[in-house]
Amino acid sequence: MKTKTLKDFDVKGKRVIVRVDFNVPHKGETITDDNRIMAALPTINWLTERGAKVILLSHLGKIKTEEDKVKNDMAVVAKRLAEVQAAPVVFVPETRGEALEAAVAAMEDGSIVLMQNTRYEPGETKNDPELGAYWASLGDLFIEDAFGSVHRAHASTVGIPTHLPHGAGFLVEKELEVLGGALENPKRPFVAILGGAKVSDKIGVIENLLKTADKVLIGGGMAYTFAAAEGGKIGTSLLEADKEELAKEFIEKGAGKLYLPVDTVVANDFDNPGDIHTVKSGEIPDGYMGLDIGDGTIEAFKKALEGAKTVFWNGPMGVFEKPEFAKGTIEICKALAELDDATTIIGGGDSASAAKNLGYAEKFSHISTGGGASLEFMEGKSLPGVAVLEEE
Ligand code: AMP
Repeated sequence: MKTKTLKDFDVKGKRVIVRVDFNVPHKGETITDDNRIMAALPTINWLTERGAKVILLSHLGKIKTEEDKVKNDMAVVAKRLAEVQAAPVVFVPETRGEALEAAVAAMEDGSIVLMQNTRYEPGETKNDPELGAYWASLGDLFIEDAFGSVHRAHASTVGIPTHLPHGAGFLVEKELEVLGGALENPKRPFVAILGGAKVSDKIGVIENLLKTADKVLIGGGMAYTFAAAEGGKIGTSLLEADKEELAKEFIEKGAGKLYLPVDTVVANDFDNPGDIHTVKSGEIPDGYMGLDIGDGTIEAFKKALEGAKTVFWNGPMGVFEKPEFAKGTIEICKALAELDDATTIIGGGDSASAAKNLGYAEKFSHISTGGGASLEFMEGKSLPGVAVLEEE
């Protein structure tokens, strides 16, 4: 079965459970970035405008202790949600029981019930079958709109839809369309740019993209494990010694496709860099560490990107949080933003924040809302929260 989407359902008067991503950064009563709430509004508004009874479920933060519960009370989201859309919102500070059931039973068409943080229930992350069945009993239909959570087999992502008719909300529909398009039928040349700290986090994605992309550009901290694998000197740069063999394999398999940095910006001290200069890759002096790609690499990567028709980018090119080592990430971000007639996709996480902070967000075709989920998707893995939507 193909995944159904919102528009495949007649929702009037129906109780529609929507798994949203309201995992927003917050300090006490203040939400510091409400992007995720705003991003969920198209689905929520579409449903309320058509007379659905909308029951919203999301996790917020990690819950291990009672203190975590106090810190991650969904009440903070309820307040903001009521401010940014027109439908009445009832917040139920419980995850099961009479108060929740009564609130749902009392819902008018076009209204919203927001449930307490799904992770208040220990069974949520274990996909406890009883919990999934219980939450499903509150609704007639399930809509998945939390792309950032679909790589997790939890009660709210996988448990509920096994009991109810189900489909994708607008956010998940767009993610599947864009990421799926890049993997299955990319306009070529298709160039992938991977950075960030660790090779170990990106093994699957490098492996799969070496098969599907025309070029794979590697920067960031993980490039030094590749340099070491080639017998280069990397000083005190980030190294995953146990991944050197794998890096060698990638270099062999990726011959002609894999682009590694040709130079690197080094410094003598991470926290207090006094001496910053650029050296060739594999020639980092003792006591120095590589913290950004150099100008030669920026030029080489820009050249490799010329004419690209599809680009997938995940992970910064250096320690971009520090202005001294942000140039590589900024220049690559600019080069992508300026590509003509290309589908440019950012796979969430740090590269997404970089594009937003630099003011380039609008220039990209798609910025994924799920860092971990988009990486797993690009690895070609089946994501449990997506797979379940494809089932009858
Ligand atoms: P990731 O979450 O794997 O995408 O990694 C992002 C992190 O990698 C950022 O916090 C960067 O500061 C860090 N990073 C990028 N390049 C380097 C580098 N050369 N050395 C150490 N950390 C780096």
